[in-house]
Amino acid sequence: MTQKTALITGITGQDGAYLARSLVDKGYRVVGAVRRSSTLNLPRLVSLEVAQEVELKTLDMQDFTSIVRLIEEVGPDEIYNLGGQSSVQASFQQPLYTGETSGMGCLRLMEAVKLVLPEARLFEASSSEIFGLKGSGVVNESQDFHPRSPYGVAKLFAYWAVVNYREAYGLHVSNGIMFNHESPLRGMEFVTRKITATLAQIASGGQQTLMLGNLDNARDWGFAGDYVEAMWAMLQQPEADNYVVATGKTHTVKQFVELAAKAVGLDIEFEGEGLEAKGIDRKTGRQMIGVSKSFYRPSEPDPMVGDASKAKEKLNWEPSVDFEALVTMMAQSDLERAGKEQAWY
Ligand code: NAP
Repeated sequence: MTQKTALITGITGQDGAYLARSLVDKGYRVVGAVRRSSTLNLPRLVSLEVAQEVELKTLDMQDFTSIVRLIEEVGPDEIYNLGGQSSVQASFQQPLYTGETSGMGCLRLMEAVKLVLPEARLFEASSSEIFGLKGSGVVNESQDFHPRSPYGVAKLFAYWAVVNYREAYGLHVSNGIMFNHESPLRGMEFVTRKITATLAQIASGGQQTLMLGNLDNARDWGFAGDYVEAMWAMLQQPEADNYVVATGKTHTVKQFVELAAKAVGLDIEFEGEGLEAKGIDRKTGRQMIGVSKSFYRPSEPDPMVGDASKAKEKLNWEPSVDFEALVTMMAQSDLERAGKEQAWY
């Protein structure tokens, strides 16, 4: 069998690293598209021992010419679009950049594929943030959309562009509507990693206070290593489609903190509600956790849980790591890093 080639945009990110590892293990030639910068952001690929096994090429999601050239040069069988501004919080500060990379970026990629290599299969990293206000309760692929952030708006533009390129031009392009997924490689700007990294530092003698937004916010959190398998499975289907990828369970930020604290050996007691909530170290009485309005978002999605039964039925996909195992994995990994002179990517 001839070796397949996969092109991954955003290969230096959390999902890019797990996907690269998985595709190399499956026997693919993997080409990763990276933004040109003065230093290459390789720690995640290094940590999964895949940096030496992928080819890296320069591409920017804002630059149509570089996308066309790269597709011509690489000739991928499969393209995984994971590149772009991925933080909901940051999208309120950088709405235009988010729209350019996470919305228009997908359209540029599909237009390039349509012109240069229409037989290539594409995966678009869509997001549960497209449901937003309409997402109360259990949501699946037929849910209405009402995004609540510039990020969600950009992802909804990309979602509909995918559907349109499928219907209008017959491209094999699938939307993976992914709920939050985390790992020890999650960026520090995301609340889960901020919690595990800060608590690990406190457990190792640090004196900081972990400041958070609304502790009652609930999310459907899964493991990134599981979610990249769903991405791959979508591109192996005869027909492209839209799939929700989720665990089907939600937990609050507070529950995440409690489990992470336990995993690093801290004993925290919560008192107060809302902005007055505090996490106190039972042993010393010191306040370790506080709440600040500055971490609240201007608008939040409704609490929702993903129904991934279509992915289960059609892709034979199910998450393998539950919430407790995920939080423990992240907290323990950060505890190991806490004592070392090592990048906190
Ligand atoms: P991530 O860790 O933030 O990675 C984002 C990647 O995009 C990085 O490799 C980054 O490169 C690259 N990038 C940013 N701007 C770019 C540009 N202008 N041109 C080319 N590349 C650019 O995100 P992730 O968690 O792996 O998520 C992967 C994709 O899934 C994203 O599209 C995200 O929005 C989507 N998604 C994620 C989740 C989740 O919970 N993780 C849920 C739903 C959807 P640098 O290394 O140079 O910064």
